[in-house]
Amino acid sequence: MSRLPVASIKRPLSSKSELPQPATKKMCKAGVAISQNLRPAASVVPPRCSVPAKSTAKPLGAMRAASVAAAPSRVVGASKRPAWDLKGRVSDLENKLQNCQSQKKSFGEEFKILKEQFAQVRKSEAECQEENQRLKQQLGDLQEELSVLANVKSDLQNVSEERDSLQNQLKKLSNEHEVLQRLRDDLETELHNVQSKLSIQTSALGRCQESLRESQETVNSLSQTVARKQDELHCAEMERRKLHNTIQELKGNIRVFCRVRPLLSSKETAMQHIQLSTHDDKALTLVKTEQSHVGNATDTEKSYNFSFDRVFGPQSAQSEVFDEISLLVQSALDGYNVCCFAYGQTGSGKTFTMEGADMDDMRGVIPRAVQQVFKSAKGLAEAGWQYTFTASFVEIYNETLRDLLYTGKPNKRPEHEIRKVSNSEVTVTNLTYKRVTTEDEVCSLIILANQNRSTAQTKMNDHSSRSHSIFKLDIEGENTGRGTKCKSSLCLVDLAGSERVQKSQSQGERFKEMTAINSSLTNLGIVIAALANKENFVPYRNSKLTYLLQGCLGGNSKTLMFVNISPEEESFNESLNSLRFASKVNDCVIGTATANRK
Ligand code: ADP
Ligand code: MG
Repeated sequence: MSRLPVASIKRPLSSKSELPQPATKKMCKAGVAISQNLRPAASVVPPRCSVPAKSTAKPLGAMRAASVAAAPSRVVGASKRPAWDLKGRVSDLENKLQNCQSQKKSFGEEFKILKEQFAQVRKSEAECQEENQRLKQQLGDLQEELSVLANVKSDLQNVSEERDSLQNQLKKLSNEHEVLQRLRDDLETELHNVQSKLSIQTSALGRCQESLRESQETVNSLSQTVARKQDELHCAEMERRKLHNTIQELKGNIRVFCRVRPLLSSKETAMQHIQLSTHDDKALTLVKTEQSHVGNATDTEKSYNFSFDRVFGPQSAQSEVFDEISLLVQSALDGYNVCCFAYGQTGSGKTFTMEGADMDDMRGVIPRAVQQVFKSAKGLAEAGWQYTFTASFVEIYNETLRDLLYTGKPNKRPEHEIRKVSNSEVTVTNLTYKRVTTEDEVCSLIILANQNRSTAQTKMNDHSSRSHSIFKLDIEGENTGRGTKCKSSLCLVDLAGSERVQKSQSQGERFKEMTAINSSLTNLGIVIAALANKENFVPYRNSKLTYLLQGCLGGNSKTLMFVNISPEEESFNESLNSLRFASKVNDCVIGTATANRK
């Protein structure tokens, strides 16, 4: 009982009530009491409780022996009395009885003590059981507590791991903090610098604002000046247009240039029959030597003198030719209709003059005119002019219109009709009108037109020389700031070969072609003459060519005709015819032009 399980619990017991001490003390006391009680009695029954084990009380057996020992010595060791000694034997029996009685008495006492002892042992056993119960419960509680503590321990382990990781984080953070602090210090220094710079800048800003105010005042006064200058510029531009037009009118609203093609091969005979003026570039003489059929009479020379606005000899470059036309191209941008024809027999250089060749310096009137138009439009944009350009390319063959910009299937080619929109404007149904913005776009259109012409050429021999091709650039300009608009057309026409074929030599298709060409070229001459004479009726409708060009001819237009001459002697008659036709045109003065302004 002294080894209490409490001692095995590591956790110290918190309260005295938990301690089994009182019970032990009680038991010990009981033990002591028992031993004390037993000491006088010769009881020999050892207590069950171990507490008084070390007690000095004698065991109950010893007490009993002591009481036996206290009996008269006569009985013990006495020799057997003789049968006759009845007295002795009675005394022995009495002694024996006495012993037995005292023994009985001591047994009774002993029993009483043992009973008490037993009661006390039972009591202490009950207490011990109670104590045991309580300790078991306590043990259970403690075990529970232990498991809780184990959980707590594992929690603590987790917590410690967490703490470790937190400590690591803390370490990292403190490192970062250190870095940030350093950074902050740097930034503070920088801020300080910036602040000092800022204060410098602020004072500079103040000065700048002051000067800005002054500059704004200057800008205001300058913008007023600019507005005034723009007005002046606009007036000057309008004045320039007027003056330019006056110059063009003075030069003649219809002008005729003659261009003599160079000899193409050395085999061809020298061009002695064409004489160019040596003192100016406006005259040309065709000389015909007629052999005398009468005896020895000398040959007679017949001269035909012509004068034009300009005569270009065989050496003239494309650029030189264009310089003369560029003024008219400017007129087109200023809002005047401009029409430029190339007239002459096949092979005289009409196509070369109008389109030219691929090489840069060989480019003809059309690409150069287009280049100038785009360039000038760009310049005029600064003065507030916005231009749009629309190109079309038509061929007239046998009085039938053909779209040279057509890209659809050949068997689906639409038919075209000329419709009058106003007195100065016509339109062609189903025709391709292409919006163009660059010179390259126009060059691709020329290539497309040539492809369209060459496909026709394979079907009809030398088709192109027997058809007129008309390149038309519609120009629309608007100056929104000034509320001014202008609209004009630039027509560049490569006419069919003007050669006359003897009626007897032509038949069938060729005759039809010839008739169509003759009639349209003759009608062109008639229309120009009618316009020159300011006749009330101008027979535009007599041919598709004049009907189509109605808007570009007449009072509101500038016309330029190139008469192209072949230098070969055998072309003499054709050259003469061409020069005569051109002279007629040159004699015409078309009424004063007015720009198409709105
Ligand atoms: P057309 O169109 O009047 O029938 P082309 O323009 O086709 O005549 O000219 C016929 C040939 O003469 C072409 O090979 C052309 O290159 C050449 N030619 C015409 N004019 C000139 C010129 N001024 N300089 C050099 N070659 C020319
Ligand atoms: Mg040609």
